[in-house]
Amino acid sequence: MQKQSICILGSTGSIGISTLDVIARHPDRYKVFALTAHTQVTKLASQCQQFEPQFAVVANENLAQELRELLAQFSSTTLVLHGAQALCEVASATDCDVVMAAIVGAAGLPASLAAAQAGKRILLANKEALVMSGQLFIDAVAKSGATLLPIDSEHNAIFQCLPHGYQRDLDASGISKIILTASGGPFLNREISTLSQVTAAEAIAHPNWVMGRKISVDSATMMNKGLEVIEAHWLFGAAVDKIEVLIHPQSLIHSMVAYVDGSLLAQLGNPDMRTPIAYGLAYPERIASGVAPLDLSQFLQLNFFKPDMERFPCLRLAYEALRAGASAPTVLNASNEIAVEAFLQGKLGFMQIEAVVAETLSRIETQSLSDLASILEVDHQARRIATDCAANLGM
Ligand code: NAD
Ligand code: MG
Repeated sequence: MQKQSICILGSTGSIGISTLDVIARHPDRYKVFALTAHTQVTKLASQCQQFEPQFAVVANENLAQELRELLAQFSSTTLVLHGAQALCEVASATDCDVVMAAIVGAAGLPASLAAAQAGKRILLANKEALVMSGQLFIDAVAKSGATLLPIDSEHNAIFQCLPHGYQRDLDASGISKIILTASGGPFLNREISTLSQVTAAEAIAHPNWVMGRKISVDSATMMNKGLEVIEAHWLFGAAVDKIEVLIHPQSLIHSMVAYVDGSLLAQLGNPDMRTPIAYGLAYPERIASGVAPLDLSQFLQLNFFKPDMERFPCLRLAYEALRAGASAPTVLNASNEIAVEAFLQGKLGFMQIEAVVAETLSRIETQSLSDLASILEVDHQARRIATDCAANLGM
């Protein structure tokens, strides 16, 4: 079998590390073409030592020099590049077959889009890229003939429950609804009046999943589920009213698809991202991921209930942004990134994250976005306004 050549954008993050864990179990199937990191040079150097990629990419020239010095210690042949353009180059290189898009936030869009335009197999973890670019991303995939496989556990579950050869049309496939499950995060049962006091450390302590800091805060506000509703809209061509969110605190059912005949299909598994990653890597085959099998005899119950929009106003905002369409999801995403960062730095209260996003949305007129430049322009505008709002509201 010809080995698949993999580029991991964001290899030092939570998804990047899980991806390398799965790849290491299958040296006969995969080789690493490129690894990229923002600033964690030491971690990237040890990944290069183990996986011997052709290329490694970091944020700037100084970090690149630091990495070269570390790599020289074990006579590595890895070529070190730096900067945003280099991310696009490795993601679209002829010698690369598969791109794991696992950079966090809007920073991942240009390289993920470059992979889409170059017709790669894209394993999409970086949901923010799709939320902010929507139609542009989907059109790029269709035009180049790229294969887009969802890694987000909910979307991966839905993908597994859709009929074979699904053509982005729920009605034509007899599907009545897509149901995204949500754990509800660490504050599901906390007294609402105390939410304004929660700290960053409490917010990133997720009950079921170990993830990067930004997505952990998004899970606590449920903005993560809101971004996932928008992600599901684009991935599956699903109208907003056909996408439902259901809280399921055990995180064992990763999402469901309801059919018109009354069938409800679900995908279950232990909450470990190596399962959707292995699925994306091997699709349509199945490979071992290192995840322990789910032993249902050990579980007493599976609970479900509807989310409370008062507790989780960010989820409501995301639905509204999807209904408004055009630039609204881009503004939602950018202002959320600014607000979450301000919260993590102790400059903004937890409940003010929603206030910053709502205020930014209300201050930018919805406009249609047809290319990457106009998307990035609105993204930057939203960041400026959100930064102002956060400074005015902040502590
Ligand atoms: P993380 O913070 O652990 O890792 C982020 C990675 O992106 C790191 O390798 C970092 O070096 C790189 N990076 C950060 N800023 C960058 C920049 N400006 N330029 C280039 N590279 C940059 O995040 P994560 O939890 O691995 O999440 C990655 C993506 O996957 C996010 O979009 C997240 O929503 C999505 N996702 C994560 C999980 C999970 O379980 N962690 C689940 C579903 C989806
Ligand atoms: Mg998810």
